[in-house]
Amino acid sequence: MSRTARPRQPSFDCPHCRSRAIVRSSAQVTSLVRELDYACTNHRCGHTFVAQLEAVRTIVPSAMPSAAVHLPFGNRNLGPKRLPVPANDDTREPANEDGPSAAQAPDPMSG
Ligand SMILES: [Zn+2]
Repeated sequence: MSRTARPRQPSFDCPHCRSRAIVRSSAQVTSLVRELDYACTNHRCGHTFVAQLEAVRTIVPSAMPSAAVHLPFGNRNLGPKRLPVPANDDTREPANEDGPSAAQAPDPMSG
């Protein structure tokens, strides 16, 4: 049994509904930049969009360097921090509080 190996595509979440988006096509823009056309897999959303993939740092230098390419050296762990996952807490009040308590501590500034 032979299976055709498909290259892995960079994963991207739909900016609107956060579902997985898949690459439909891509094109090289410059030697450092590629544009990818993504389609959201959520059929109720249907968003399609373009993302850019850019080479930004060298980790191990090329054995065949091009004089036209200038990529700074950098640690693979440098770069922007990942965005925190938004908390699912649209409700500002703790779920176990029914409302303002009648038994609040007296205000030390009022007496
Ligand atoms: Zn979507």
